Amino acid sequence: MENCIFVVMETENGAVKNVGFEMITPAKEIAAAKNLKTVAVLIGNDVDGAAKQAGNYGADAVITVDAPEYKTYASDEYAAVLTTLAEKYKPEAIFIGATPNGKDLAPRVAVKLNTGCAADVTAMKLNDEGRIAFTCPVYGGTILAENVVETIPQMATVRGGAFKKAEPSETSVEIICEDEITLKAEDIKTKIVDVVKEISEAVNLEDADVIVAGGRGMGSPENFALVKELADLLGGVVGATRAPIESGWISRAHQIGQSGKIVSPKLYIACGISGATQHVTGMVGSDYIIAINKDEDAPIFDIANVGIVGNVLQVIPAMIEEIKKMRA
Ligand SMILES: Cc1cc2nc3c(=O)[nH]c(=O)nc-3n(C[C@H](O)[C@H](O)[C@H](O)COP(=O)(O)OP(=O)(O)OC[C@H]3O[C@@H](n4cnc5c(N)ncnc54)[C@H](O)[C@@H]3O)c2cc1C
Repeated sequence: MENCIFVVMETENGAVKNVGFEMITPAKEIAAAKNLKTVAVLIGNDVDGAAKQAGNYGADAVITVDAPEYKTYASDEYAAVLTTLAEKYKPEAIFIGATPNGKDLAPRVAVKLNTGCAADVTAMKLNDEGRIAFTCPVYGGTILAENVVETIPQMATVRGGAFKKAEPSETSVEIICEDEITLKAEDIKTKIVDVVKEISEAVNLEDADVIVAGGRGMGSPENFALVKELADLLGGVVGATRAPIESGWISRAHQIGQSGKIVSPKLYIACGISGATQHVTGMVGSDYIIAINKDEDAPIFDIANVGIVGNVLQVIPAMIEEIKKMRA
């Protein structure tokens, strides 16, 4: 199947990470313009359900490499498998989520394929030469660089939340099982002995339906606890601007924005956040935004669906009390 774009899906405990489905959206747009197929690639164990899901989100075909030894991500094995697939199917482009594992996998494969890789892509389009131009934030997000990988396949890691996944629809998709790949002993130089989760991975802002985010306006780490209380009550995740992170009220894993995570939850509650461009870039894709700020001219109100002008220390406890009453 030449003439295709690979979209590499990462799974965790059998579930596909959202960025995998999100990447199908730009891949399909580019594939349509260049008459290519969008092919999801799934390396893992028991990935049948995930393969069907990839079809539901718009992949034209899915290649699976399904075996117990691929249950957990391992750099050497996954890089060897993906390289083998790329050499066989010759995709024009390969998109990989900019997750910790994806950032490890992509450059290894790029080296093996003797090609380049754009990092942490937040937008992409076809240029006049028919190549993909990738937008990559650099220097902590101060500059947006446009990168064109001149070699084929054009590889990129894509930031979670940068693209919207399609509405899934039940579709039957061609699934190609590539279970016969044998790895060469010289390809495997490391062995995973244990997997230890970092805190930053445990904060799954990108996949959250509800985010309650706090800014400098929360005033102190003690007050910031209100943000967590509201988030817990709504089954959501705590987000933050850079200000409280720099003040040490909460860890960097919670940062949303240009140099943090890009999110698109169903509900985003911004508490004591002014609405600086660097923050808004990361959350403007949210479906419904509620902003609480004591300054009626705060820029956050320009993008909010509902704006509450008031003191967060009064408004949030009132919201918590009302929600508890409704549920009692
Ligand atoms: C290169 C670069 C990258 C950056 N990346 C990011 C990023 O990824 N994410 C990010 O968030 N920022 C980022 N920043 C910082 C960004 O420019 C802003 O400084 C930051 O977002 C401001 O955070 P804030 O809204 O919490 O604070 P402020 O701008 O200080 O706003 C606080 C708000 O709280 C309100 N307030 C105060 N007290 C109360 C109260 N009691 N009740 C209600 N409202 C109250 C105030 O009216 C004000 O609007 C970046 C900056 C640079 C230069």
